[in-house]
Amino acid sequence: MKALVCGAGIAGLTLAWHLERAGWEVELVERAAAFRDGGYMIDFYGPGYEVAQRMGLRDRLLAARYPVNELSYVNRDGRQTSHLALTSGLEDVVSLLRGDLARAIAQDVRSPVTYGTTVEAADQDASGVKVRLSDGTTREVDLLVGADGSRSRVRELAFGDVTPRYLGHRVAAYVLTDPELSRQVGTRYQMLTEPGLMAGAYALRDDRLALLFLHREPDRAMPADPAADLRHHFGGRGWILPEALARCPAPPELYHDLVTQVEMERWHQGRIVLVGDACQAVSLFAGHGASMAMAAAWVLADELTSGGDLTGYQDRMAPVITEVQRFGRRFVQWMAPSNRWRIVARDLIFRFAALPGAGRLFVNSLSPGGHHLISPR
Ligand SMILES: Cc1cc2nc3c(=O)[nH]c(=O)nc-3n(C[C@H](O)[C@H](O)[C@H](O)COP(=O)(O)OP(=O)(O)OC[C@H]3O[C@@H](n4cnc5c(N)ncnc54)[C@H](O)[C@@H]3O)c2cc1C
Repeated sequence: MKALVCGAGIAGLTLAWHLERAGWEVELVERAAAFRDGGYMIDFYGPGYEVAQRMGLRDRLLAARYPVNELSYVNRDGRQTSHLALTSGLEDVVSLLRGDLARAIAQDVRSPVTYGTTVEAADQDASGVKVRLSDGTTREVDLLVGADGSRSRVRELAFGDVTPRYLGHRVAAYVLTDPELSRQVGTRYQMLTEPGLMAGAYALRDDRLALLFLHREPDRAMPADPAADLRHHFGGRGWILPEALARCPAPPELYHDLVTQVEMERWHQGRIVLVGDACQAVSLFAGHGASMAMAAAWVLADELTSGGDLTGYQDRMAPVITEVQRFGRRFVQWMAPSNRWRIVARDLIFRFAALPGAGRLFVNSLSPGGHHLISPR
């Protein structure tokens, strides 16, 4: 069997890993000009982490992980206003860069990846799918997979215009090399929140710093110059922000997007199927997207290689995704509080959570389930 996977991200690489081991001939096309490194810090846990362990990636992930010992909120002077020590209950949470997770999977994927290429057109009939690529070449495959993220091109081709649910926030992230800022932030996740705004920083190895920005914005239109837009919203907020934003890169080193969730009634159409954010984006507010993308790729491969079908794949995944998306929407108000009362309430919760034993309770309450997903069919 032959599959063309559009998108060499978390879901696409994981699916290729499993299908090629089951004897499929797999090829990936990726829009980015080269492997997408860096990105932003993610917490990786739950069913996706279990899939990664089954793939033998545990040691690689532990080598790439960063110790996050504390969540700490600061004010404009950089003074801590509340904090949560992360000393217990997080053994199975691996904090790492999205790019490092993708690299850990990619190292064992033998299928070829063509960079700087996307799918232009797809025509399917009972015998297969004819795909035209942006480099002018064509492919004939048994299955076309859209693993190309929340703005999926394959989704557009198979399902037309699907508008993701906008959660009212824009997100941006980049990695900066700056020994002084990196030392100042250290191995705690520091955040500054003001009504409708959140900026976070975490020190990486080699004098680098991962920065994340979130702000409430009713307008879905993306800014023409995202670096200038960030400076406009965050540049005057004190802490390390003026220095960090003075050296904000342009895309693609600067990641920027709307925060959205993708909800679809069907994830497949004949011989075309979607996986990961393309059909099930849960948003960064749910903190589960990479884990769910890996779990979904595993479930899809399991259905395709053990006598199941695409309906079975969606039936297994969709209920958990609905639950995680609901959880994500509830969390918006805590990650990016819209008013000062919520900021005060959040700080009080953190103080309570800092009591012995309470931290574990608090963190567990942030993690919806889904472990049953990855039992074989
Ligand atoms: C700031 C932020 C923080 C996050 N934090 C967490 C977290 O803590 N825990 C967690 O589990 N998840 C987190 N996530 C979510 C997680 O990163 C995503 O859900 C996950 O990467 C989805 O995997 P995917 O393979 O579907 O998409 P991606 O990993 O985005 O991969 C999609 C790939 O397709 C490529 N592509 C896009 N369009 C095309 C096209 N037209 N043609 C060809 N290729 C294309 C892209 O370049 C990319 O390589 C976070 C996301 C953000 C933005």
